[in-house]
Amino acid sequence: MPDKFPRLPPSGIKVIVVGAGFAGLAAAIECDRKGHSVTLFEKVDDIDEITRIGDIISFDPNGSKAFERWPGVVDSMEAIARQTDWLDLYHHEGLFVTRQSFAPEKAWGRRINGHRGQLHSIIYRHAVECGIDIRLGSRVEDYFETDYPPQAGVVVNGQRVSADVVIAAEGVRSRGRKIVLGSEENPKSSGYAVYRAWFPADRIRNNPVIQHLVTHGDTHMGFIGPDIHFLASSIKDATEVNWVFTHIDDGNIEESWQFPGKPSEALKYLEGWCPVVHELVKATPDGRLIDHKLVYRDPLPTFISPKARITLIGDSAHPFLPTSIQGASQSIEDGVVLATCLELSGKDDIPTALRAYEKLRYARVHRAQATGPKTRERWHKADWSKVWKNPEMIHLEREPWLLNFDAEKDAYDRYALVVEELAGVKPRL
Ligand SMILES: Cc1cc2nc3c(=O)[nH]c(=O)nc-3n(C[C@H](O)[C@H](O)[C@H](O)COP(=O)(O)OP(=O)(O)OC[C@H]3O[C@@H](n4cnc5c(N)ncnc54)[C@H](O)[C@@H]3O)c2cc1C
Repeated sequence: MPDKFPRLPPSGIKVIVVGAGFAGLAAAIECDRKGHSVTLFEKVDDIDEITRIGDIISFDPNGSKAFERWPGVVDSMEAIARQTDWLDLYHHEGLFVTRQSFAPEKAWGRRINGHRGQLHSIIYRHAVECGIDIRLGSRVEDYFETDYPPQAGVVVNGQRVSADVVIAAEGVRSRGRKIVLGSEENPKSSGYAVYRAWFPADRIRNNPVIQHLVTHGDTHMGFIGPDIHFLASSIKDATEVNWVFTHIDDGNIEESWQFPGKPSEALKYLEGWCPVVHELVKATPDGRLIDHKLVYRDPLPTFISPKARITLIGDSAHPFLPTSIQGASQSIEDGVVLATCLELSGKDDIPTALRAYEKLRYARVHRAQATGPKTRERWHKADWSKVWKNPEMIHLEREPWLLNFDAEKDAYDRYALVVEELAGVKPRL
């Protein structure tokens, strides 16, 4: 059968990608698909250091569109994804409030919810199968760009490596930001942290308070209370269980952190919460609970370096709060758009590709980012006298502008227009 989305002929463009998270892998795969030649540097020696992180992650239709173009990837993901198209929402004391159905969104594309590490592994394996030059154990120490020759590059393991363009996808603590912004700048606390747990369903199968989570197939539920939301689900034909809840970050550590969590500590935040939530936390086995600080950044003034040969993507450009349910999907969109802009600019006009990429992404990604605090406030500060009369008030906003969106099509459609607009803009020196 002919390949539905064949690799384009070689473009002659050499790309360096830094980081093999969702953003870096998507950029690498999409650049490869467009015929660009990719080298990816990832600091970890063993990819399992990233993929064993157990937590639920969601890709909405706008993010999962890219997976459809990567042969075999969607089928592998569907096989391990949660089979629910609803979210049951409860008051934190246990009363059922409302079921939000996601069925009407099927026309927009797939929602894929699954184990973050396992979904990541599927994408990583696809990148390896594409033959992308992935160099593990390669920590990028610095970035540079030059006029003559017109190039950008990285310093890795003490060596300078050059290419036509460098994509910095190293997450929230990105070193690439220094050359883009001209100075160091640290992420700030969002004021919140999350407890995250994932474990076998056998732990709860005989517990009469919570066994309903795993007796009739996959489930998905949320409990809403003051300053906390607690999400739980069962997955893989209800053989595995996961839960996650936000809590105020009352630690005094400024930097991002991640610690093994203790159920007894987590329970202190949940006084007065219903027995389902308590039993789920208590059932969590040792070593399966993580306490993770959520860091944030205000929107950066730009994603691209002064000579427009280095760009930030994913969390290094725009970290997302989990309540937006969009961080990973937007990271994927970044890679898709960037690879397309490079295809359309060609090797001789890389700066135009990067400027067009920024223009195509900037407003959209920040509008998506703003949905995180909005949903969190809607849940954490819910006015229950109003919610009981109108339960849909606490539904997640599911907007077509965000979800019914094909980033590749949008880039093809708008590239020429955006480049024309940019022609009136004087480049930075
Ligand atoms: C608790 C939590 C839950 C979330 N839930 C969701 C969700 O449900 N849906 C959703 O869409 N988003 C969610 N997000 C957000 C989402 O996880 C991120 O937006 C997304 O993973 C960002 O990917 P990234 O590739 O930009 O960064 P990262 O995943 O941080 O990847 C960066 C990579 O770069 C590597 N690296 C770093 N520095 C260097 C260096 N110097 N040299 C070489 N390599 C380097 C790292 O090892 C890593 O592999 C959540 C985030 C959190 C914290």
